[in-house]
Amino acid sequence: MKVTLISHTPDPLKVLYLAARTCYSPEPPSQMEIPSEEKIKKIIKNVYDRGHESVLEHVSFTFALEGVSRAMTHQLVRHRLASYSQQSQRYVRMKKEVVVPESIKKRGFFEEFSKEVERIFSLYERMIENGIPEEDARYILPNATTSNIVVTMNLRELIHVAGLRLCFRAQWEIRRAVALMKWEVKKINPFLSSFLVPRCVRLGYCPEKESCGLMPRRSLSP
Ligand SMILES: Cc1cc2nc3c(=O)[nH]c(=O)nc-3n(C[C@H](O)[C@H](O)[C@H](O)COP(=O)(O)OP(=O)(O)OC[C@H]3O[C@@H](n4cnc5c(N)ncnc54)[C@H](O)[C@@H]3O)c2cc1C
Repeated sequence: MKVTLISHTPDPLKVLYLAARTCYSPEPPSQMEIPSEEKIKKIIKNVYDRGHESVLEHVSFTFALEGVSRAMTHQLVRHRLASYSQQSQRYVRMKKEVVVPESIKKRGFFEEFSKEVERIFSLYERMIENGIPEEDARYILPNATTSNIVVTMNLRELIHVAGLRLCFRAQWEIRRAVALMKWEVKKINPFLSSFLVPRCVRLGYCPEKESCGLMPRRSLSP
């Protein structure tokens, strides 16, 4: 899996500052002075803590995810407040490239799994060679088939996605993808990446049925 931040809002702290200050200032944003980075960060943190999250929508990030499984991208695209462009299985002839989970390798199923993949892709190829269009031949392809996808999310949605998908109980491949997205954000702005945490960190308790131990379970007191 390869995750690259291909673009983002330039000067994100300034944009967030101007958006937040516009709500509470008699001055128009074009005339506002930009304070120190320290002060800006304090204001952004305050906006986040108070749940004034629409401010966070003014900054966005575009990531390229390569060599990820269709099983993973299907989970990712369930996040509706984002834009996606994914490699088409109608127009692109798929290569025999799959993501194999560690659990399959560790429990001795790798060979069997690979044989099945081999068989499936050979049928896929034969069907296309016999005139079946890619859009139909793809029905045989496994969830493990690799894909490439470009996703654009604003910071508010990215925080939401991180909250759900960085949870230790989330599925490993989407957790890894979102962890790499966080890493990419960290490279350009460690402060903003600090908001990308499992939701238990923000809540102060674990809302899951079983806790991984990072946070205590919410007590169901009367
Ligand atoms: C651990 C886990 C297990 C899951 N298991 C399943 C499963 O078994 N089956 C399954 O189908 N899905 C499953 N999902 C997917 C899940 O139901 C959501 O579709 C997915 O996580 C997208 O998140 P979301 O709906 O919170 O937010 P997004 O689509 O990312 O939207 C962000 C937020 O915007 C708001 N919003 C967006 N659209 C609407 C709307 N139409 N109406 C009101 N508010 C809206 C909500 O506040 C939402 O939280 C699972 C997700 C997780 C994290």
